[in-house]
Amino acid sequence: MTDATIIDGKGFAANLRERVGAAVADVTKTHGLVPGLAVVLVGEDPASQVYVRNKRKQTVEAGMQSFEHSLPADTGEADLLALVDKLNRDGTVHGILVQLPLPDQIDADKVIAAIDPDKDVDGFHVINAGRLATGGQGLVPCTPLGCLMMLKDRLGDLSGLDAVVVGRSNIVGKPMAALLLGESCTVTVAHSRTRDLPAVCRRADILIAAVGRPEMIRGDWVKPGAAVIDVGINRVPKEGEEGKYRLVGDVCFAEAQAVAGAITPVPGGVGPMTIACLLRNTLTAACRQAGIEPPAL
Ligand code: NDP
Repeated sequence: MTDATIIDGKGFAANLRERVGAAVADVTKTHGLVPGLAVVLVGEDPASQVYVRNKRKQTVEAGMQSFEHSLPADTGEADLLALVDKLNRDGTVHGILVQLPLPDQIDADKVIAAIDPDKDVDGFHVINAGRLATGGQGLVPCTPLGCLMMLKDRLGDLSGLDAVVVGRSNIVGKPMAALLLGESCTVTVAHSRTRDLPAVCRRADILIAAVGRPEMIRGDWVKPGAAVIDVGINRVPKEGEEGKYRLVGDVCFAEAQAVAGAITPVPGGVGPMTIACLLRNTLTAACRQAGIEPPAL
C-alpha cells in the first residue's frame, strides 16, 4: 500500500487568500465596498499576539481594512462590551473578532452574545450556531469551514460517506459535525466518554481529530484509504533539546500516513486555513451587509 497523499493546507490557504483578494478588489471596484475586520485583543498572551499579528497582515494583504483594538489585561467586562457595541454600530466594520481566551474577569459567552450575529465572523454566536444546525444562512466557524473546503476539494461529493468527528467543542467538533451532516455524510461524534474509540474511528471514511491530545489517534485506528483531517495543535518538548518545542497533531502522523488515503500534516494543514476562512467570512459578511450576493469561493 502506498502512503497517503498529503493535503497541503498551506498551499490551499494561500490560494484561497488570493481568491478572496481578487473578489475584494472586484467588490471595491464595482460597489465601492471595502470590507473591514475589527480584531479585539485583551491582555498580552504571546500566542494571541502572534495570531492577531498574522490576522492583521493577511487582512491588509487581501485588500481589506484592519481595525485593531489592544486593551490592557485588567480591562473590565463593561468596557469590552461598550467597545463591541461601538463596533456593532460602525458601518466600516463588517466583521468583529474578539480573540479568545479572555482574562478571568470577563465572561467570554457574554461578549460573544453581544456581537452582532451578522458581524460574527468567528461564527461563535448562538444565532450562527443555530443557523448552522438548522441549515440556515449564517457565518460558519473558520476552522471547521477550512476542514470542509479541503475535504470537498480532495473527495468531491461527500454524500453517504461515514464521517467520525472526535471532539465535541462548540468551536470545532459540533460545527464540523453539522457541516458534514449538511453534506449528507453519516456522522458520528465521539468524545471522552465514547466506548471503544479505536473501533469507532476505524469505521470512518472521513476522520476528523479535534481533541487536543498529542498523537492520540494511532495508525491502526484509521480505515485504509480514509481521509484524515488533524485539527489538533499540541506543543510537545523536543527530545534532547531543553526548553525547545515542536508542534504535533492529535493523530500520530507517521503511523496514519501509511494507512490513510489522504492526510493533513501538523503544522501546515488545518492551521493556515483558519485565517484564510476568516478573510472569506469577512468578505461574505461585508457583501451581505451591503446587500450584494457574496462571491462563491
Ligand atoms: P476542547 O478542549 O474544547 O475539546 C476537546 C474535545 O476532545 C472534547 O469534546 C473532549 O471530550 C474530547 N476529548 C478529550 N479527550 C478525549 C479522549 N481521550 N478521547 C476522546 N475524546 C476526547 O478543544 P478544541 O475543540 O477547542 O480544540 C481541539 C484541538 O484543536 C486542540 O488541539 C486545539 O489546539 C486545536 N485547534 C486548532 C485550530 C486550528 O486553527 N487548527 C483551531 C481550534 C482548535 P469531552 O467533551 O467529553 O470532554
